[in-house]
This record gives sequence, C-alpha cells and structure tokens, in this order.
Amino acid sequence: MKKIVVSLLATAVIGAAAQPARRTVSLVVTGGTVLTENAAHRTLSPGAVAIDGTDIVDVDTSAVIAAKYSARETIDARSDVVLPGLINTHTHAPMVMYRGLADDLALMDWLQKYIFPAEAKTVSPEMVRVGTRLAALEMIESGTTTFADMYYFEEEIAKAAVEAGLRGVLGETIIQFPVADAKTPADALARAEKYIQEFKDNGLVVPAVAPHALYTNDKTTLVASAELGRKYGVPVLIHFSETEDEIKLARDQYKMTPAAYLESIGFWGPKTLAAHGIWVTDDDIAILKRRGVGVAHNPESNMKLASGAAPVVKYLKAGVALGLGTDGAASNNDLDMFEAMRQASFLAKHAMHDPTAVSAQTALDMATIGGARALQMDALVGSLEAGKRADLITVSMGAVRQTPLYDPVSHLVYVTRGDDVRTTIVNGKVLMKDRQVRTLSRAAVVADANRLAQKVREAVK
Ligand SMILES: [Zn+2]
Repeated sequence: MKKIVVSLLATAVIGAAAQPARRTVSLVVTGGTVLTENAAHRTLSPGAVAIDGTDIVDVDTSAVIAAKYSARETIDARSDVVLPGLINTHTHAPMVMYRGLADDLALMDWLQKYIFPAEAKTVSPEMVRVGTRLAALEMIESGTTTFADMYYFEEEIAKAAVEAGLRGVLGETIIQFPVADAKTPADALARAEKYIQEFKDNGLVVPAVAPHALYTNDKTTLVASAELGRKYGVPVLIHFSETEDEIKLARDQYKMTPAAYLESIGFWGPKTLAAHGIWVTDDDIAILKRRGVGVAHNPESNMKLASGAAPVVKYLKAGVALGLGTDGAASNNDLDMFEAMRQASFLAKHAMHDPTAVSAQTALDMATIGGARALQMDALVGSLEAGKRADLITVSMGAVRQTPLYDPVSHLVYVTRGDDVRTTIVNGKVLMKDRQVRTLSRAAVVADANRLAQKVREAVK
C-alpha cells in the first residue's frame, strides 16, 4: 500500500530567490496518470492538478506544476489514475433504504405493489435524511461527485448533500397522487417553489423540479412543472419512455409517443433531463436534440427491470447530451458508477450485436463530461481543466484484477470497482482520503440506516 503524503509547504522558500516566485495554492494532486477528459482527451503521466479554493487553476505534468505552484496540501497520487469525479445523472438517493426489499419484478408491479406502498408508510424527513446520508457515503466512497436526484422532501436531500460535500442537481418530485410531502400536485409545486427559492444560490446544490413521469401526472401538472422550471431557470427532471407500457399508454391516451406528447404541450426545454429514453423513435430523438434535452441512461436498472436497451449509439450520433445513471438503489442495487460504465458498454454491445458499439472511452465520457453536458453543467464540471470546479477522484490501480496495466481507460471501465477509489474531492474539498471519508461518520450513518430499516421491514410485512 502506498502512503499518501501530506506536506505543508508553507515554509518551502529555500532557494526561492534564484527561481521565479511560485504561486501558493490550496491543494495539488500529483504523480498519477491524469485523464483530463477535455475535448482532446489529454492524458498526462505523471500529471498534476493544482487547485485553489473551489477551482482548478492548472493541469499539467507533475514537473511543470511543481515549478509553478507551492501547495498547502499535497496528495501523492503516484500509483493512481486521476480523473474527473463521476456524475450520476439519475438516482433517488434515499431509496438506498429499499435496497433489496423487492427484487425480480416488472417495473409497474415493483412500483405499485412494493415501492409506492413502502414509500407511503415510511417516507418522512427523517427517512430521507438517513437514506441520503447513506447514499452520500456510498457515492463518496465510489467516486461520484455530482448526482441528479428525484425524490420527496428534497430540501432534506439538499441539506444532507451539502453536509456531505457533494454536488447535486436535486429535484423535488411532483406526482398526481397524495405522497408523504404533498397531498396534491399543487401542494407539491408550492413546496418545490419554496425549496427552489431556498437553494437557488447554493454553491453545491442546483435545485430542480421533478415531475415523476408522464404516466403519473396529468397535462396541467406537467405544464405547471415545466413553467416552474422556466420561471427560476432551474432544471426539470422526468422519467421518460422507460417501458413499453408507457408507450402504449401515450398511444392510447394521446395518439402520440411520449416525446411527441411532451413536445405538443411545450414541456421540453434546454434544462430538461429525461431519464431512460429507451423506447424512442428517430423522430423522438430529433425532438430531444432540437430542444437540447439531456438524457440519463441507466443500463443496470433497465436490465434488472427488463425495461429494454436505450439506443445509446443513436443518441450519440444525433449529438444528444448523454449521461449515465444508476437509478435508485432499489432497482440496481448500488450506486457504483464504475459498474454503470461497464454495464453501459456491455448492454450496448449485446443489444446491437456489435462489440464496438460503446467503447471504454465512450462509457467514461458518458460518466464524466457527457453527464455534465446532460445536466448543462459542462462549463463547471465533467473534465479537469483550469477554471472549472475542482471535482476529481484518484483511483488505485494496484489490485490483482487490475494487473497488468496497459490502458487506464480500459481498466477504469472493465475491471475497476467503486471501492478502488482512493480520494474524492468536490469543490476543492477533500471528502475522502485514503478511503477515509471526512465529512460523514461511517459508523453513525450505517447504524442510523440499520435502525430505520427496522421500520421499513415492519411497513411491508
Ligand atoms: Zn428513476
């Protein structure tokens, strides 16, 4: 095991007179193979990332960074790969509390017989807090730095995310039937508006509106949700074209595909993020492209619920911004984005009978810069470039299953697991170092979750 060396270099001025003055920065991560995920896919080995406060100030070879900067804290990443933090574009963080509660069912059965009833009895601000802390711990430990979320009591998720140090695009759910935090869609919209006002200027959280789906909301609610998003310039998140049932429902009720129906009511906008997008026609893809809609692809959830295989290659060819997601842990059953990358690649290859369909590099792009684009955050995150926020991870490459190492991108996608992540940094803050999470007490988070699980167990008896 390599040791991460922290050196306080505040006094490292010996010989400075003979050299140009070095700028003091807060943190330098140096010595690893740096995959920038910039437009040219620049790789530096050994490379370094200089960070000051919340921002990346420079990315270059270790030698150049050492000559230009002195750091208050240094992370030695010599045996690691350094890359942008992973972006989970679709999840329901507190649903980690329903992990393994009901498996091996079709989406509508799973939702209506298990998940919705369990939620009706157990969703509360406390459940959301406890669940989100557990999810945040799992995300930090597995290298996710930004997550897009749709759930209830979303303000509790936002508070927990900020405390954990994670970045989030966090959408308050709007749904037609009475739920734990709202009796009517109008209540939910009012809640969402208050929540948006509260978190509008937060440095980590982007508040959002999350109409659950076309099949769980009527036209008035869908339109009002989109309008609320536009009023505040915040994202609108929706489940979209996930199952063949949804397509049939749209055909029966509206004589249109879900994409065409949502287009006809003026729902789509450049800040919409559509999760799944499996059953789409070429015309649907053209609508999404024209409206600048981002798509969250969730290969594991889609396979587990046998929902289908999204036409990933068509989306990419059409230039639709495509990110990766895990979906809620109840349909995955974890939040490991390395697994999501691997399954995105495998599912596309399998579905298209084409091993070249989604390469390791394409899967990595989807989990980083692609996700940032889908969330309209690519000016801030998604790649390691000067001026962007310092969201990055270092991943150990020393495991037996990672030996030998010829190509770090291949290893990240095909053999790496979330627990190979060694360091997680968000907004310039080190959330995990040498697998020790600094912002959450592991023991307390796990104990709280196990205590709450007792209530869930009772509720579904
Ligand atoms: Zn979902």
